[in-house]
Formats: sequence, C-alpha cells, structure tokens
Amino acid sequence: MAYALMLGATKESYEQELKSRRSIFLNGVHHARELTTISQIMFTMLGLLHGYEHGNREYIDLMTNAAIIIVPMVNVDGVFYIDKAWIMTSKFEYIRKNRHVYDKQRGCQPEDQGVDLNRNYDYQFGDNDDGSSGMACAEDFRGPFAFSEPETKAVRDFLLEHRGVKIALNFHAWGPLFI
Ligand SMILES: [Zn+2]
Repeated sequence: MAYALMLGATKESYEQELKSRRSIFLNGVHHARELTTISQIMFTMLGLLHGYEHGNREYIDLMTNAAIIIVPMVNVDGVFYIDKAWIMTSKFEYIRKNRHVYDKQRGCQPEDQGVDLNRNYDYQFGDNDDGSSGMACAEDFRGPFAFSEPETKAVRDFLLEHRGVKIALNFHAWGPLFI
C-alpha cells in the first residue's frame, strides 16, 4: 500500500479545505531501481517542515496558501522486491517495473516481469513503440491498456479527488538530470 502525505497549514478540516486547495504533487519511484528519488522526496519534505517550523516566510506562505502532497513510493512492490533480494543475496536487483506479472511474462527473466508504470498512464498511451513497448519482456512494457495497474489507478483516482493539484512532479533518477 502506498501512502500519501499532505503538508499544509489550515484552520479548517482536511475535507473542507485541503482537498480542494491549490497544490503541488510530488512522487517518487515510479521506477523501482530509482531509489534515490525516495530520499529526494523525503529531504524535500523535511526541508519544507524545517523551514515552516523555523519561521521561513517563503515556506510558511507556500504551506498556508497551497498544499504539498507527497507520495514517496509509487512502485512499492518493486522497492520491496529490491529490498528483499538485497537482504537475501546482497545483490541489487536493477528492476524498473512493478511486480504485477502477466501470464505472457512467465518466460521473461524475473527482472523483466511486470509493467513500466511510467508508461501506463492514458496520455498518449501506446502512441508509438519508441517511447514504450508492447513487448511483454521489454523494460518499458506499457501494460495491456492504460491504467491497467493498481499503482497508476491509485494516482489517477487520488488526483481526481484532489482537483486543486496544479503541478505534478514525478521524480526519476538517471544520470545528472532533472527529468
Ligand atoms: Zn524513471
């Protein structure tokens, strides 16, 4: 189960105010192996709280007038798989996808099973085979249809409930890039 945290100062209840407040949505590890994005997100969260607590005007304004919604791990099962393998074998499993294994993936290597969550959203889903793949064992396999995966469905449903989200940042980690 993935958790969402929301930072925002309010006098009213969550239902009354924060659900509709203008907000920024930060999330990490759509791709399981990009573990540093969890740290990036947590560090950002601590920075915001620290700034607020210590009277930083910018942060206080931000969290009074907007809300910050944080999901540190979208691909929880993928991270769990890496974690378990590390404990058992001290080997870093370089997996990218979630752990939802389709029948046609039984012949794939274990690290190639599952769906690339970052290719499973409906925007331009399966538009071409360069940005994602229809091949089940490919590392960027997009899944059988848009929102076929519980993780992307959860993000979609959350955003449908929180209409105030104006900016969404999916943290990825690949080289010295902000992507
Ligand atoms: Zn990524």
